[in-house]
Amino acid sequence: MSRTVVITGAARGIGLAIAGKLVDEGWTVAGCDVLAEELQSLAETLGDRFRPFVLDVTDEDSVTETARRIEEETGQVFALVNNAGITRDGLIMRMSMADWDSVLAVNLTGAFMMCRAFSRGMLRHKEGSIVNISSVVALLGAAGQANYASTKAGLLGLTRALAREFAGRNIRVNAIAPGFIETDMTRELPEAVRNDYEDRVPMKRMGAPADIAEAVSFLLSDASTYITGVVLPVDGGLTT
Ligand code: NAD
Repeated sequence: MSRTVVITGAARGIGLAIAGKLVDEGWTVAGCDVLAEELQSLAETLGDRFRPFVLDVTDEDSVTETARRIEEETGQVFALVNNAGITRDGLIMRMSMADWDSVLAVNLTGAFMMCRAFSRGMLRHKEGSIVNISSVVALLGAAGQANYASTKAGLLGLTRALAREFAGRNIRVNAIAPGFIETDMTRELPEAVRNDYEDRVPMKRMGAPADIAEAVSFLLSDASTYITGVVLPVDGGLTT
């Protein structure tokens, strides 16, 4: 029987690559995003095993309601991938409270609320796997990203805390720290910044969304049943 995985930020970029890979592997994917039209067209291209759910992860009531609908539609939810994320970059002197709060709300509080909503069913079934998409900036820091780096480091704390909290119930919680990955988020960067990034990567190139999808697939699979609480960098050697 097909296992169900919930993915946030599934409409494009890394989330879309994860969704496509897991559909190909036979999972039922509940793809959550604020981008309703993109989700709808994905449902047409990815087929029946991709179920679109319009969800803003910052809205507590809709997280609760969407969790209820997903469980009603697909049954037991085995896995959760917290991938939705935004940036509002700026040096701290110019970083507004709105820039700080909005990044915290999506990247960290959103992931917390999703973990809380879906762990209820996982605890009941005594099985599950959660993957949080952090970033190398959680490990290295980044000038101009005080808000974003704080959320990505916070995700590592959330990952380790829940790994310990859930280990006895056969629920694993891990994080992936992507390096520079070719998506809309990084395409917005000036060319000079991108070139500088590429130069700093020992493998001298950016990664592809598929590189992250492969790592997620491994951490959700039965090939990793004794792995919990880890942070897996997928970064071409950047953090070595
Ligand atoms: P992206 O901007 O292409 O995609 C992010 C997705 O999240 C979008 O579909 C967006 O609509 C969705 N989203 C945003 N706010 C949301 C909300 N409130 N509720 C639900 N969905 C929401 O970005 P990406 O590059 O694919 O990044 C995906 C994840 O990987 C993010 O968490 C990002 O921080 C992380 N990451 C990316 C890189 C990179 O180089 N691209 C590196 C490290 C980590």
